[in-house]
Amino acid sequence: MNRYPLIEIPFNNRHQCWFCGEPKDKEINFPRYASEESLISHPPLCLSSCNECATIVQRSAFSSLFAYRDAVKQALTVKHQKTLSIGLNWTRQELADSELEGSAFEGFKRSAWFMFELIQARINYQGWELRINNEKLIIDTENQAFDFDGTRYVNLDSAVTHAVKTFYLDEQLFTRVLSVIGKDKFAQAIRLCRLYPRLSNKNREAVFLEIIEGLGL
Ligand SMILES: [Zn+2]
Repeated sequence: MNRYPLIEIPFNNRHQCWFCGEPKDKEINFPRYASEESLISHPPLCLSSCNECATIVQRSAFSSLFAYRDAVKQALTVKHQKTLSIGLNWTRQELADSELEGSAFEGFKRSAWFMFELIQARINYQGWELRINNEKLIIDTENQAFDFDGTRYVNLDSAVTHAVKTFYLDEQLFTRVLSVIGKDKFAQAIRLCRLYPRLSNKNREAVFLEIIEGLGL
């Protein structure tokens, strides 16, 4: 369900995912949870997405749509690493000239290169200009420095990444807790989540609810 205003969609992009250019499957809310609205630096919005881009990133608590888009592209890169390596290891010409012949390999070459170009195009895709009700959406990615524990991070997202690695946090749990208690209580979110380093999808929701309840929220 759309919680926020939908971005304007140019006629030529009407069937496209804003993140990767593939056919759109749905419209998604950004941020995903209403509790994250206080973390972002611009108005919340809805935009078109394919199913893969809508679900590939598990964590939340992003500081802007651009930070989320970076995470989507990163996740696509990791997931499709094998396919992408075809383009890194071979050029189109090398693939065409390769001495390995035979019809099965011919088919492989054609489809492998096709898949490589498809994934590469999705990762490079830039979306279209964000406008809501005729107004250009300004997303300030410059002045987002986030201070925590004596260190200045370029933004909240890199502080989150750092904390998850350093304290062995469950990324999904931490980002959800953070979005509910707010970035001012970053250290408290770490303390709470350190107790639960490894969670199954099934346990995570219960632990999250337990933490929230414990805080009286
Ligand atoms: Zn997509």
